[in-house]
Amino acid sequence: MLASKLYAPTLREVPADADVVSQQLMLRAGFIRKTASGLYSFLPLGWRSIKKIEAIVREEMDRANAQEIMMPILQPAEIWKDSGRWKAYGAEMMRIHDRHENEYCLGPTHEEMITTLVKNEINSYRQLPVNLYQIQSKFRDERRPRYGLMRSREFIMKDAYSFDIDEKGLDESYKSMYDAYMNIFNRCGLTFRPVEADSGAIGGSGTHEFMAIADAGEADIVYCTACDYAANIEIGKPGIMKQDEEAYKNLETVDTPHASTIEAVADMLNLPLEKTIKAVVFSIDGKVVLAIVRGDHEVNEIAVQHAVLGTVEPEMATPEELEKVGLTAGFISPVGLHQSDDFAIVVDESVMETYNVCGGANKKDAHYININPKRDFDVDDIIIAPIRLITDDDVCPCCGGTLEHAKGIEVGQVFKLGTKYSEALQATFLDQNGRPNPMVMGCYGIGVSRTLAAAIEQYHDENGIIWPRAIAPFETVIVPINAKDSVLMEASQRIYDSLQQADVDVLLDDRKDRAGVKFKDADLIGYPLRITVSKSTVERDEVEIQIRKSGETITCAIDMVTSKVTELLQNL
Ligand code: ATP
Ligand code: MG
Repeated sequence: MLASKLYAPTLREVPADADVVSQQLMLRAGFIRKTASGLYSFLPLGWRSIKKIEAIVREEMDRANAQEIMMPILQPAEIWKDSGRWKAYGAEMMRIHDRHENEYCLGPTHEEMITTLVKNEINSYRQLPVNLYQIQSKFRDERRPRYGLMRSREFIMKDAYSFDIDEKGLDESYKSMYDAYMNIFNRCGLTFRPVEADSGAIGGSGTHEFMAIADAGEADIVYCTACDYAANIEIGKPGIMKQDEEAYKNLETVDTPHASTIEAVADMLNLPLEKTIKAVVFSIDGKVVLAIVRGDHEVNEIAVQHAVLGTVEPEMATPEELEKVGLTAGFISPVGLHQSDDFAIVVDESVMETYNVCGGANKKDAHYININPKRDFDVDDIIIAPIRLITDDDVCPCCGGTLEHAKGIEVGQVFKLGTKYSEALQATFLDQNGRPNPMVMGCYGIGVSRTLAAAIEQYHDENGIIWPRAIAPFETVIVPINAKDSVLMEASQRIYDSLQQADVDVLLDDRKDRAGVKFKDADLIGYPLRITVSKSTVERDEVEIQIRKSGETITCAIDMVTSKVTELLQNL
């Protein structure tokens, strides 16, 4: 490919509304353009990289015996009503009508569609297992589309679905997808970790998220420095933190005017945060749920949801809901409170191991001091559960080792669905005894476009992108210093032909621009290697090869360029 023919409009300025590095660089380097919030076009460079990721995904999926198909994006409402998700999916689903007023959605995912597809075709255990996948645009009306390709409203996903006769089969399918995902993200050059995750609203038993480690990530994970343990903090199981035992002091009320946060109270009363307890109030399935953790801990919403067997993710309770159950925002503790049909109290295990702590007095501008939970809470009428977020002060729940905290970008997820969808949509097969059984399903997603962004989040510097070779739009760029010099152009052309013959994905920057401009663009776009063809080197039958990642420059005989480039690329 010749740079003079390449449609890659670069920008000098960082676009004002680009909130993460990957988005800024992809806009500046001419990989993508924004159409509207959460909607992007891929320009040739961006699309080349996407296609490379897709090729890796395809190879590894095919190797794992998954077969590629393509289903419609437009999905009839009926199948979602049958599974119960037409309502449950909520505002994130893009819904439309046809001219006959029939309801449809633009697929946010395809469990319903694929289950409906296979149930009409598969009816015997002999036809199982089967694993089908597609690579397609998905649509989600995200509450906050942001971070460019990382959280967009239309994005490219690889979604795969496995169907087995039993749990054992599912375990095997899951393992083979897990392994394929390891290969895919390794081949894409990402630094990532598979982490245990919450099975959430989709239902099912086991799941792992593949997290690219990057500060721009929206997920918090902990991992052990000694063993393989790694978990999304939503499901990381914290141990019980015990405080030194103290003699119970008398419960007293103190005035705490305007101190409605636990930090403000601790400040006012000069107490360390761990000597306080704090309350967060949620609304879950129409029930008001009071969650209590130590002042220095944070509430894990997912754990609260599990503690009350909630079916939906917790939302913050509204002032009206608080009022309905008689709670005084900012001054709440379980002392003197009782559960009812529409009110639950969930207390973290570590709170039960505190002594003489401070918490709300359940009236405005007042707190209790010397709360002793085992004495002052109605212990038979509260739910005690591990509902705080695990931190890197905790020890590894597996081996007791030291935990580290990191931010992660979820680039993929594998999921044991079980029979949730096959039961709802009657996808059954006849087993060896001729009896009908629901198929046992798994689903497996990769955010293809998010993976592209994650790679840039991980690999860039102040000058631009530093592509891992496998997903770079071009592996190598040849930059003749002066495109008007026929000697340089001839040498460049020779190198270009030879590299192309060796299947190196190469771009020849034949533009008549100044060398400085071309170098800047090469750095910004982030080709792994740059071959500089200048008068002084060509006179010696040599060129310079610069490695984008290290900045290292190697002088190489023109005859040897192809073998040298091939060799260098192997390690990039
Ligand atoms: P998130 O928690 O980040 O919203 P999710 O868990 O809802 O993602 P899945 O249903 O597991 O997403 O979809 C599979 C993959 O699709 C995700 O692992 C992610 O890489 C990608 N993905 C999901 N939502 C988006 C989005 N809005 N923009 C880009 N990629 C996305
Ligand atoms: Mg997910």
